[in-house]
Amino acid sequence: MKDYNWSEDTFNDIDWTAHGRALRRHDNHRPTMVKYLNKVLPVGAFLHKTNPKYYAGCPSCNNPSETRHHLMECSSPERIKWREKCYSAVLAYVQKKDTSPKIQGLLLSGLKVCLHHQNPTTIQEDPSWDTLKQAQDAIGWHHLLKGRISKQFSQEQDRYLNMKKTATKRNNGLTWLTGLIDIIYKEWWKLWDMRNQDRHGHDMRTKSQAKKAQAIRQLTQFYEAYQQEVPEHLEWLFQIPLESRMQLNTPVIIQFLNTWEPVLQESHYTTALETG
Ligand SMILES: [Zn+2]
Repeated sequence: MKDYNWSEDTFNDIDWTAHGRALRRHDNHRPTMVKYLNKVLPVGAFLHKTNPKYYAGCPSCNNPSETRHHLMECSSPERIKWREKCYSAVLAYVQKKDTSPKIQGLLLSGLKVCLHHQNPTTIQEDPSWDTLKQAQDAIGWHHLLKGRISKQFSQEQDRYLNMKKTATKRNNGLTWLTGLIDIIYKEWWKLWDMRNQDRHGHDMRTKSQAKKAQAIRQLTQFYEAYQQEVPEHLEWLFQIPLESRMQLNTPVIIQFLNTWEPVLQESHYTTALETG
């Protein structure tokens, strides 16, 4: 709650039942979904902070810092297309599911704001959906893409279906909201998958290129860190210049790093201790 500045009332207003049910439909991706929901998604900037050997930038547009926000804001052509597809998927869902007109307009307007990182004040105003809007305002509109949506939405859908006398056990506010969150998670997963293919490669060739790039990045850092301060008995390690060692096969580079990085780290640490 503290993390998001939610009051107890706001926290309790989130439809956690729908959220939980939708999340269970994504059990096969659960670890990543949980990271996504808890702001610890392993994006470049986050990985680089934990270990500088990882590339911090966006693999899709080469922005130097791939933050969680950037994931959504990325201007690569694929990501622009994804935003359109995500919007269309939600639109198709609300139309197919006979959604209360009060919800439709607001939800789609709010979704646009999330997808394009606009200020929530740009969400259309309409007196008929004021209560719904205020409820989601309190939770935060960006939470829409995390499936944290006000109960007012499922309740409004219940009211609407009851009025039309079409509510059933399988067609009510809760099933409607669960389905909506499920669609949002599905779309989000497509985005994450696409980004991972850009980062780690999507076929044998691009995967091996990505591995090579990572090995070269680590090798460069290794030379930068230790070449100038190598103990005499290990100087031979740097007899092959960086540029030449980079040309070796990826497994050979990785083997070299795995063997010698711990040794140099250790000797570096010992020297630091000795010299204070
Ligand atoms: Zn990008």
